[in-house]
Amino acid sequence: MTKPIHLLIVGAPGAGKGTQAAGLAEAYGVPAISTGDIFRENIKNGTELGKRVQEITAQGRLVPDTLTNDLIADRLSQADAQEGFLLDGYPRTRGQVEFLTQLLEERGAKIDAVVQLQTDTDAVVERLLKRAQEQGRVDDTEDVIRHRQEVYEQETAPVVDIYAERGVVVEVDGMGTVDEVGRRILDGLKAKGF
Ligand code: AMP
Repeated sequence: MTKPIHLLIVGAPGAGKGTQAAGLAEAYGVPAISTGDIFRENIKNGTELGKRVQEITAQGRLVPDTLTNDLIADRLSQADAQEGFLLDGYPRTRGQVEFLTQLLEERGAKIDAVVQLQTDTDAVVERLLKRAQEQGRVDDTEDVIRHRQEVYEQETAPVVDIYAERGVVVEVDGMGTVDEVGRRILDGLKAKGF
């Protein structure tokens, strides 16, 4: 049996992260777990958790670490996550990194690789703007789109730095077709021995 692999994927909004996460998870036979998706699902279903996070997520603020960490501990304790996983959108703060590190340590595991999708901000903004116009999303102005990119940069940089110090970050050029980028991700991981 192959060793379980524990992966993170990070990338700016509009970088095609969700699509790549799905393909990557399938390639390694692990579940793709997105905290954003779990929050959205809970909001849609009107659960207690959903009610607690609805306003926070609507404002684009971060859900408190205690809540997010509890959620991820519960999700990672489920049967399908025992033989590795791919996390998308978590960890987002230093506190979350510490919590995850501890949680994995208790399982005798660690984050093996962090796939960082690198994109050209101007090109991504242009693409998102075009999509917003096509879909009639008038609220998605260039300012709003650029602001989301900045928030991502500020939020993610410290988290990626921690993993970079541990030598597990795999930088991947995220510009190109889904297949091209997907291939680069697999090649990058292979080069690391995965
Ligand atoms: P996403 O789809 O990953 O951008 O997540 C949507 C929203 O869910 C975010 O804007 C946050 O409000 C919340 N969220 C998702 N993941 C986290 C996390 N790791 N920590 C705190 N809040 C999160």
